[in-house]
Amino acid sequence: MADIRRIALVTGSGRGIGRAVAFALAKRGAAIAINYSRSETAAKETAERIISCGGDCHIFQADVSKSDEVRGLFQRIKSDLGPVSILVNNAGITRDAILVRMKDEDWREVLSLNLEAAFLCTREAVREMARARWGRVINVSSVVGLIGNPGQANYCASKAGLLGLTKSVAREYGMRGVTVNAVAPGWIETDMTASLKPEIREAMLKSVPAARPGLPEDVASVVAFLASDEASYVNGQTIAVDGGMTMV
Ligand code: NAP
Repeated sequence: MADIRRIALVTGSGRGIGRAVAFALAKRGAAIAINYSRSETAAKETAERIISCGGDCHIFQADVSKSDEVRGLFQRIKSDLGPVSILVNNAGITRDAILVRMKDEDWREVLSLNLEAAFLCTREAVREMARARWGRVINVSSVVGLIGNPGQANYCASKAGLLGLTKSVAREYGMRGVTVNAVAPGWIETDMTASLKPEIREAMLKSVPAARPGLPEDVASVVAFLASDEASYVNGQTIAVDGGMTMV
């Protein structure tokens, strides 16, 4: 990757898994567009760390669940850095509740960010990728999109939906040198999982053959591989990064 200037947009990359992905891609020579919606301080810190290691990095505020903001985001990245050639749809939220207590807005907010934002960003990105005959789209799904989880019907539906999006766009754009793949992380230590109750953490740990929670870097290294030239014949796939939790 280092000899070609590639521009990577990682949505929601001020913190968590997105931040680790931004570091991993920067280390491999990509110019990084950090996107955040509210965590400006974290986004600035992430950018500063990348720049202090000799990387090229700009930050862009946008709520990627909004169509007009996504259009504006891609325009700003193009004029500041160039067209996006690597897109990592990472931004995600949870709004957990058992089904009968799940509010309409819990459902809509989760679907809107976790699934629709990926559609909006991918639609913007693939035009230029197809023109350049090279592109990588990596969707951050989840193991629960494969196996389901009580209390997360909205989240699991969004993450399963991402896999359908992945496979369809992979089929549409494969012949233009664009690959579209997904990663399905298991339990990864980030803000998203920090508030899990100790008994849930203990139960989850028992289901992980690796006997430890994952780190954002565990996911980032797989994303970096999928973004590389070496992965050019990997298309429409989902790679679980879960310490062996699912093995589906
Ligand atoms: P996190 O630490 O809670 O980070 C979520 C990220 O999403 C933040 O950077 C946040 O930025 C961003 N975001 C939220 N709303 C946004 C919006 N409207 N527009 C743009 N960015 C927005 O979560 P994480 O654990 O790193 O999760 C990253 C991805 O991995 C998610 O898609 C998640 O579903 C998936 N995942 C996580 C786990 C896990 O165990 N942690 C497991 C499987 C899958 P702001 O703070 O600026 O809003």
